[in-house]
Amino acid sequence: MLSTLKFVLFTVISLLLVFTAVYVTILNTYKPVVRTYINGKFVGYFSDEQQFDEIYNDLVTEKQSIDENVKVYLESEPTFEKSYIKDSLLRQQNVYTNLRAEIKTEFTIYKVVVAGEEQMTFTAQDQADEYIQKIKAEVSDIDTSVDVQKVSELENVTSLDRANVILDDIIARNKPVELPPEPEPVVVYTPAYGMGAVVPTLMGNLAWPTVSREVNCDYWGYWGHNGVDLRASVGTPVYAFMDGTVEFAGWDSSGYGECVKINHGNGMKTIYAHNSVLHVTVGQQVTAGQLIASSGNTGNTTGPHVHFEVKMNGVSVNPWNVLNQIP
Ligand SMILES: [Zn+2]
Repeated sequence: MLSTLKFVLFTVISLLLVFTAVYVTILNTYKPVVRTYINGKFVGYFSDEQQFDEIYNDLVTEKQSIDENVKVYLESEPTFEKSYIKDSLLRQQNVYTNLRAEIKTEFTIYKVVVAGEEQMTFTAQDQADEYIQKIKAEVSDIDTSVDVQKVSELENVTSLDRANVILDDIIARNKPVELPPEPEPVVVYTPAYGMGAVVPTLMGNLAWPTVSREVNCDYWGYWGHNGVDLRASVGTPVYAFMDGTVEFAGWDSSGYGECVKINHGNGMKTIYAHNSVLHVTVGQQVTAGQLIASSGNTGNTTGPHVHFEVKMNGVSVNPWNVLNQIP
């Protein structure tokens, strides 16, 4: 009787041990999970909904590391079905990859458009605005705008280094050209009789030195006469032929008498001789047609007139080469 009892007890204990072993084995092999679907598509087994949320949040953070303003979303809310799965299968699946494929992203990009062309792409409006202002500061009349776009992937975002290069290029190509000031009219006359190889450069206005344009004695009217004698009675105005600086104003003992010499630059000077009164002083700037003296009969003369002489680099040349240019 006792042996029968022992046998039953032994059998019960054995069965309990076997049952426990099988139970433990099953528990270790199969795990309770949630089968997860998004938009009807199976994306994987998660231990529970909380694990799904953790992985989803990891992926959101991953996208936000590219652009903090990115909008991350799923096309529909996930659905979960309770299930069991072999532990080995659970470990083989890659829920990160599966879920990453289902995640939708929407990036907002700001394109700097200059004269109809997209030049830069930024993820922040501030940066786009900043470059628009930089362009406007240098090129005020150029057409610029910020084009806001929504894209699913970020591509070709402009680095600040690159943006600065593009900025310099835009400014260089569009900056208004600063025109040099209008040059004074420069008339270059071809050499003629008596001028030698020297060509005077006449600048600005020209004025006849006397009121009268009549000539008493021409250039080389007698041997050695190196100017033109212009008719002028005593006390009539004598005018500067061209803009210049008074180089001499006073008595000239070589025969010019009361004399004015004007330096016009470019090696050209004019001489006005035999005056009665001088109205300018040495160093004075004069303009063409300005009163410089009153005519007279001083120095080596046979009567009142203005001896008008033109020198190029110290050599007397034919005054008609310049007098003929007076309109
Ligand atoms: Zn003379």
